[in-house]
Amino acid sequence: MSSPQSASQSATTPTAPSDADTRRAIRPVICYPNDTLPKPDVELYRGARETAKKTDEVLVPARDARCFTVPAGSFFRISSVEGPQVGDLNLWNRDDLSERFYSGKTRALHGTHITTGERMWSSFPAMRPMATIIEDTLGWYGMDAFGGSVHDVIGTRCDPYTGNLLADSQYHYCCHSNLTRALADHLGVSLQEAEPHVHDVLNVFMCTGFTRDTGQYFMKASPVRPGDYLEFFAEIDLLGGLSACPGGDCSSEHSSDTAACYPLLVEVFTPQSDALKGWQPPAANAYDGTHGR
Ligand SMILES: [Zn+2]
Repeated sequence: MSSPQSASQSATTPTAPSDADTRRAIRPVICYPNDTLPKPDVELYRGARETAKKTDEVLVPARDARCFTVPAGSFFRISSVEGPQVGDLNLWNRDDLSERFYSGKTRALHGTHITTGERMWSSFPAMRPMATIIEDTLGWYGMDAFGGSVHDVIGTRCDPYTGNLLADSQYHYCCHSNLTRALADHLGVSLQEAEPHVHDVLNVFMCTGFTRDTGQYFMKASPVRPGDYLEFFAEIDLLGGLSACPGGDCSSEHSSDTAACYPLLVEVFTPQSDALKGWQPPAANAYDGTHGR
């Protein structure tokens, strides 16, 4: 069924110019060639990981979120337990919450989904790697026939405002609200103080893409199974927030209590002190900040 709006849109579709096919046939160029990006020394990180001992563990309940901290130079692993479950991950500089994960820039640098050797970048002006993926047990998935892949930086986070806009709902256990409550509890501040710090996420284990015909954001059942994990090296001192999305494996819907949902496990591992051989947290971005003045 076409709505009056789409009918009026098609009525005003402009006539294609005579060279339309030629213009469409122009090959794309990569916006941000990333061959000059500083490369993480994943082998160094993995060597250090072999010396690491578990120092913390947080179980994130289904349809809820928890915060956790990871010292720079340590590791954190997010694992599927009990059943297929997607997680919405926020990261902040532990000592300065204004530096936080920048989903859009991470997407521009690495593409729509991230995996081993790729990084979660922080907001301006620091704009530096916050965390580097060192292990991804879903790395085999690649890109499916629908253009879907896992661990996306193209979604936002499920939230009650969009649910209200589209379905007039008042649902309180979207990832946005879960992360807001978890951060408020962790910091000992009000929900109103915590909420502006919540930001667009890394969709851990979520399988998503854009439809080829309409360009719409889609999701499909996550290939994650209990025992799968995504593991990160913390490049700076981190505060993390992880929500076990009310969408469960995101095979049908989110923003409701209908999907089967499971907990997610976060574990922190700290290596021996000499295991990183002169490694230091990355410096903040070196742009001089004068903006032409
Ligand atoms: Zn969610």
